[in-house]
Amino acid sequence: MRLAEMMALRQEICAGLLVTLTERCPLHCAHCSASAALNGRHLDGVALLRFVRTFTAQCRPDVVMLTGGEPLLRPRLVVETARAAKAAGTRTAVLSGAFFAGDGRIPASIRPAIQAVDHVSLSLDVFHEREVARQDVFAVLRTLLRHGITTSLHITGTSSDDPYLSEVTAEVTRIFGTDVPMLVSEFKPIGRAAAWARATPQADSSAAPCAMAAWPVVTVDAAVVVCCNQDVVDGRTRPDHLRLGVLATSTWPEVHERAHSSPVLRMIRTVGPLHIARCGGTDLADYCGSCQRLAPAALDWATQAGTGPAGELLQAVAVRNGQMGGPRALLRRHGVARYAHLVGDDG
Ligand code: SF4
Ligand code: SF4
Repeated sequence: MRLAEMMALRQEICAGLLVTLTERCPLHCAHCSASAALNGRHLDGVALLRFVRTFTAQCRPDVVMLTGGEPLLRPRLVVETARAAKAAGTRTAVLSGAFFAGDGRIPASIRPAIQAVDHVSLSLDVFHEREVARQDVFAVLRTLLRHGITTSLHITGTSSDDPYLSEVTAEVTRIFGTDVPMLVSEFKPIGRAAAWARATPQADSSAAPCAMAAWPVVTVDAAVVVCCNQDVVDGRTRPDHLRLGVLATSTWPEVHERAHSSPVLRMIRTVGPLHIARCGGTDLADYCGSCQRLAPAALDWATQAGTGPAGELLQAVAVRNGQMGGPRALLRRHGVARYAHLVGDDG
């Protein structure tokens, strides 16, 4: 599965499922949004497999993206999850920090996991390079490509003018051509980067729909939530309207139904949380913060506006608008615009 194919699905509701397999990671990147460390928690693997086995050929995500921490610390669970997903027709991707990189050889314990999935994405940025040398990451990429495994790089920098981004993307292109597409984004002030990264200034977002409320997220404490906002994922704030289920007991069709039919979620995807908060009489400036603290009057307004065929139609139009222009347009809006073309082609 190519990176652009995945990105083309990113705004389709329930086209993907993000799974936090673990909070653990042997690396200690200074920008880690998950503040991963070796003493973090593992996701309940039994509950995950039960949930994935509720996918059916008619109702399933197109892709399961395994993340962490470092998901390849749990290679057996990666294999079992990929197999269970594949039984329903779902493909699997893994996002790794390549902690095992060295001379390009992939350790025998990790090889079955790499072979079981449909896409392997590796992280690369100035902080990862302090933990794992760039040339070692490239050696792993060469090995993956030699074995016919579809791969990509997630590259992060400080801003669109960061010279690191122009230098590293040029080197990847020179060495790998278009065989290694790239998703280029900016550091966010989350996790270990909270103290130093700057928030990307937003244009007027007063009625901006949320583009990140499409793929459900399985958190390490086995909840199923609406989005990958770190406060919601970590459970620091997790109001009812951002919960979709419980890993141990919910089924994918139930999560799918709630994600599509919740009137509040429809309005978050259609007019965005700031507008909802304002309609409830509260004037907040913090985009995700307002979403996490919607007052009862705001929730009442969203429930009324998003219920029934009208709410369904509003949501369908918002999703269609978000998909216009394909993955490159999405990355121009939510990644670093000047590198959006490096995502490759989805057709
Ligand atoms: S590799 Fe990823 S999960 Fe591990 S410390 Fe670095 S950013 Fe965090
Ligand atoms: S606006 Fe709400 S749903 Fe969207 S990413 Fe922020 S917290 Fe999540």
